[in-house]
Amino acid sequence: MDPSLADDLARFPQLLDDARRYAVEVLSGVADRPVAVPPQRPRPAPLPDRGTGADGALSRFRDRWAPGFSGSAGPRYLGFVTGGSTPASVTGDWLTSTFDQNAVINADSTALDLERETVGWLRELFGLSAAHEGAFVTGATMSNFVGLAIAREWVGEQLGVSVAQDGVAALGELPVLSGSPHSSVYKALAMLGLGRGSVHEVATMIGREAVDVDRLDAELAALDGRPTIVVANAGTVNTVDFDDLRAIAALRQRYPFWLHVDAAFGGFAALSPQHAELVAGLDEADSVCVDLHKWLNVPYDSAIQFTRRRDLQVRIFQNAAAYLGLPTDDPDFVHLTPESSRRLRALPAWFTLTAYGRQGHREIVERDVALARELGDRIAELPHLRLLAPVRLNVVCFTLAEDPSAQRVGALARAVAESGEAFLTPTVYRGTPGLRAAFSNWRTTNSDVTRIVDILRPL
Ligand SMILES: *Cc1c(COP(=O)(O)O)cnc(C)c1O
Repeated sequence: MDPSLADDLARFPQLLDDARRYAVEVLSGVADRPVAVPPQRPRPAPLPDRGTGADGALSRFRDRWAPGFSGSAGPRYLGFVTGGSTPASVTGDWLTSTFDQNAVINADSTALDLERETVGWLRELFGLSAAHEGAFVTGATMSNFVGLAIAREWVGEQLGVSVAQDGVAALGELPVLSGSPHSSVYKALAMLGLGRGSVHEVATMIGREAVDVDRLDAELAALDGRPTIVVANAGTVNTVDFDDLRAIAALRQRYPFWLHVDAAFGGFAALSPQHAELVAGLDEADSVCVDLHKWLNVPYDSAIQFTRRRDLQVRIFQNAAAYLGLPTDDPDFVHLTPESSRRLRALPAWFTLTAYGRQGHREIVERDVALARELGDRIAELPHLRLLAPVRLNVVCFTLAEDPSAQRVGALARAVAESGEAFLTPTVYRGTPGLRAAFSNWRTTNSDVTRIVDILRPL
């Protein structure tokens, strides 16, 4: 054994304890470290020939890299839609590495059953019926990819071909209809060989990002019975608008289409009786994408995908080999997702759901929504700013009251980041440059909203 490795083996408990102490130090200060750090990239170091041991690695990481890391785990990082990690989920994440299970086949461990239990809990949490089966993937992009892969196979089934077997050329042109699709839907379609150009953006309602269901009806009618895919959006990133899922699902009585719902973070509306109406009809979808590293507040990389047609999913993702086994009626995860070997990424979710339950996670969602509304109200009172849309759920989309040019709004975003107090991401909403403040962290409280307003007021 290499001497550094042998030494680390002997000192493993001490090394874990050092890492634990360092993590405590980092997390104790996370609310007060600069939220965003201007990137000053360290020069790449040469590959070590002889290693330093884990001790040396920790001290180098601490000196060279950690200072440049953002406070994205903290309460005022409101860029993108970025959850933190609950204490229980961090514990689960550490133990995922500790046990290092390969959650791929059931041959040697109950790890897959833990994933199945967690999938069942999440299905219930999001109000889905038992007809939906699920699997963990790395993020919502992958969840959209898997859902749309199953959708593509379903369209093939309608046309009497199997894309999984014969390739996408067997399908011909396949339009994908959606009102305000997330960029990851285009990416997924590019990966699936359907092409970014397959998206037909359907008109949205006036002043909204939600699709105009009458226009969708007309576009489906124009396809003249050709099977297609509709991507409905449950929570758009700029204004958190929701398509009318029930009305869209009802169109399937007249037109043949697969209904995929991108509920990456909007799906969490289901946790709150106050907001659950926004996702009414979600269960009727054929496939559903929900991100967990956003509003469930588990560490990256975690999302779930659900579908009613696991048989089609197995056709695509099966990895049948003598040593892996064939897919059964209750297929192992190796036959269900793009990865073969995969970490037990259900464990952090299992930990947080066990630790805080439905009520604990409902409280996070409701608090974040209340804080977004509060920030929206406070911004509406500032004369130099204005809201670009009403605060529908957990995102505040706003801009400068006067001359909201890309340059001036970009300067505002930089000034907020340079204050170290908060991080917001720029966007363009209906042609107007603006900023988004997205609330999805379990740590955020009223005092954080006050600190953000204090930063925005003089800018
Ligand atoms: C974040 C997001 C995605 C992509 O999620 P990743 O986890 O970054 O892959 C897809 N759709 C919506 C609506 C999102 O908000």
